[in-house]
Amino acid sequence: MTDTAPPRIGFVSLGCPKNLVDSERILTQLRAEGYEIVARYEIADLVIVNTCGFIDTAVDESLDAIGEALVANGRVLVTGCLGAARAEEILARHPQVLGITGAHAYEAVMEQVHAHLPAPHDPFLDLFLPQGVKLTPCHYAYLKISEGCNQRCTFCIIPRMRGRLVSRPIGEVLVEAERLVESGVRELLIVSQDTGAYGVDVRYRADIHGGRVLETRITTLVRELGQLPVWVRLHYVYPYPHVDNLIPLMAEGHVLPYLDIPLQHASERILRAMKRPAASEQMLDRIRRWREICPELVLRSTFIVGFPGETEEDFDRLLDFLQEARLDRVGAFAYSPVEGAAANTLPGAVPEEVRQDRLTRFMDVQAQISRDRLAGWIGRCTTVLVDAVEDARIVARGPGDAPEIDGQVFIEGAWEGVDAGDFIEVEITGYDEHDLYAEPV
Ligand code: SF4
Repeated sequence: MTDTAPPRIGFVSLGCPKNLVDSERILTQLRAEGYEIVARYEIADLVIVNTCGFIDTAVDESLDAIGEALVANGRVLVTGCLGAARAEEILARHPQVLGITGAHAYEAVMEQVHAHLPAPHDPFLDLFLPQGVKLTPCHYAYLKISEGCNQRCTFCIIPRMRGRLVSRPIGEVLVEAERLVESGVRELLIVSQDTGAYGVDVRYRADIHGGRVLETRITTLVRELGQLPVWVRLHYVYPYPHVDNLIPLMAEGHVLPYLDIPLQHASERILRAMKRPAASEQMLDRIRRWREICPELVLRSTFIVGFPGETEEDFDRLLDFLQEARLDRVGAFAYSPVEGAAANTLPGAVPEEVRQDRLTRFMDVQAQISRDRLAGWIGRCTTVLVDAVEDARIVARGPGDAPEIDGQVFIEGAWEGVDAGDFIEVEITGYDEHDLYAEPV
């Protein structure tokens, strides 16, 4: 670094969208203070690695990324989930790291940066964009509404890593949403560890926004976000009873008719062992009711197969549930013990080959259901959001397609005057296992 050049920071962001939002906040602060963000370790004065510690493969990936940064640069700060849960393990493997902080420890990260690489003092330096630094394409953005989780699911160590639920005041969230929309964002993806619990920790405390008093509560937030001229999509909604109140808001168009609701299993015995709500018959009734209220509703969920103690009977119960619930989008994992998770001490570990076999059977059943659900779109007209315009086709997403995790809508043909971030009307004409094909209306 020369005397006049701004200090340069290399940044690596690993893990889930919630971690990505943390990275964006740290990068925004770094840019605001005049640091330059560079893409190569070799030319950086310092590297920050934002780690993930969700499952063992993520831990390995994080430890490897720290090692790579140390070899290439030598001056490394570590932050994120792994820093919160396994600081000693990081130090044992990489004693040269300059500092370690936990998840969403923005101020602590900045203190460490200041200690090892002081910020430049130039009042004219770096006018940065009001929406901050974004790692997603310009037309969609993740909006984090809370941190941490008050649940105690036995397979999960996120509450230990990220702490108890802390909701952001509703006014602060709405100001950020408005800023994002002003900057050109067309879809807001609401994320947190537990979106349905928003505001519970502050007892739905009132906040002021635009001269009005608003409760910090998920239904209020959805109504307010629904005033913005963009798509709003809810992720990670725990199956609380009050989720039912969100469905009419979807039917009324305040928010996309898309519910990402991790159910994890359908056997009551296994759900109890997971410390999750265990009434799967009621869940089926609720899904039926939701579809009556909002026929457009697209349901996404995730499940774990091969959880300790899962018998063939439990697994069959899960397959039966899938057949009855006919969810649109489903992700599944074979259970993998995460260090520190309570489930590791449960009896009845399922052998690896049985877990993998059940995962394959599960995905086979769901593949057919997903195909059938997509077939139901044929002949329907819908609005899609353009993600990319390629030589001879448009790649877009419909209301039922979250970026990165769901399918896409392909529209063949050369298009004039259409850009990423535009909404266009199409008629669905074809489908395969994951994606839809359409023609312009
Ligand atoms: S609700 Fe989600 S984040 Fe919270 S403990 Fe359960 S799995 Fe983990």
